[in-house]
Amino acid sequence: MTNLDPTGLYEELGAKPVVNAIGSLTLLGGSTPPPEVKEAMDAAESAYVPMTELQERAGAFIAGLVGVPAAYVTSGAGSALTLATAALMAGDDDGKIQQLPDTDGMKDEILIQRRGRYWYDRCLELAGARLVEFGSPDGATADDLARAIGPKTAAVHCLVQEELPDPAALPLEEVLRVAGEAGVPVTVDAAGQIYPLENIGKYVRMGAAFQCVATKYIGAPQSTGLALGTEEMIRKLSLQTFASYEGRRVRGVGRPQKVDRQEVLGAVAAVKRWMSLNHEDRLAGDEQRSRAILDRVAGLPGVDAALIDNVVGHNAFGVRIRADAGVTGVSLPEVVDRLKAGEPPIWTRVRPGEDWMDVHVFGLAPGQEALVADRLARELGG
Ligand SMILES: *Cc1c(COP(=O)(O)O)cnc(C)c1O
Repeated sequence: MTNLDPTGLYEELGAKPVVNAIGSLTLLGGSTPPPEVKEAMDAAESAYVPMTELQERAGAFIAGLVGVPAAYVTSGAGSALTLATAALMAGDDDGKIQQLPDTDGMKDEILIQRRGRYWYDRCLELAGARLVEFGSPDGATADDLARAIGPKTAAVHCLVQEELPDPAALPLEEVLRVAGEAGVPVTVDAAGQIYPLENIGKYVRMGAAFQCVATKYIGAPQSTGLALGTEEMIRKLSLQTFASYEGRRVRGVGRPQKVDRQEVLGAVAAVKRWMSLNHEDRLAGDEQRSRAILDRVAGLPGVDAALIDNVVGHNAFGVRIRADAGVTGVSLPEVVDRLKAGEPPIWTRVRPGEDWMDVHVFGLAPGQEALVADRLARELGG
């Protein structure tokens, strides 16, 4: 059996390692940094370095790699969202920077489509901003957005998931057009849009002031993320960070969202690797491992399994499983529980509102796909 804890460090703490068949998941630890990233992180320990300078240089380097005017390494994509919102409200005004999260006297409304609300939009509120919805549960029009823009509007925010487009939502192009005419900046959560590569920075090139990227999806420490944007946007965002708090002695809200020098170099190495990786090989590997799981469970009585052939975003390939509990004798949520209770524990999930299970290979160590396939098949009656 695979030994998930060769050094015994997890055991010493009483924390039980698990097999991750869900994908990149913050709750389980994000991703496994490849050797290039670990080497860069180790090398960072050789010296101290002024963090303000390191952040500037790392940002400029990453901006050059992904083709945007400016970039900044943040404490996760979540922090990029918080810092960007703070920057849009306070700008270069040191008084306002130190006043946040009290937004008195500032534009502090972030417009967001009613249908575009999502789990991480909370990160926008943390600097003191208010989310103001436009449109209805059925959709939103350019007029809805134009009418919603007012004297307190600081920005319009959009989540982009190209692999899961919402046909009823107002498209980003329209949001950019209407906001642009009103002189309002647009921020984009593109945390998962790490493939195709052109999507890393594409929304900034389309006219957004800012987009974030979650580097947990490309093998960086999951405590890092990227803010990409215009020169002005990223300069203002940098004024909100822990480095500015210490370096400029101006106390912004970003102080608790620290990034260490190991993490900055790790994020740089991860972006460098990702931009030059052979993605055809990566995707072929993901497809092959997904098929290994599919082949084992497809054809079991009462089980309907299919290959997920999407390559866009952070969850390439995978297997979608539906099961007729009347035939298999077990519901999918029960399968999730049993896999978790087994040895070693295997984490899968059935998301709220869905009656299927998506299994992804992103978080599986080499060879673990066979273990997952076997255990899944056994729980499903095979
Ligand atoms: C993961 C994720 C985030 C949060 O990113 P962190 O780097 O974990 O802070 C935000 N938005 C989306 C769409 C994500 O997938």
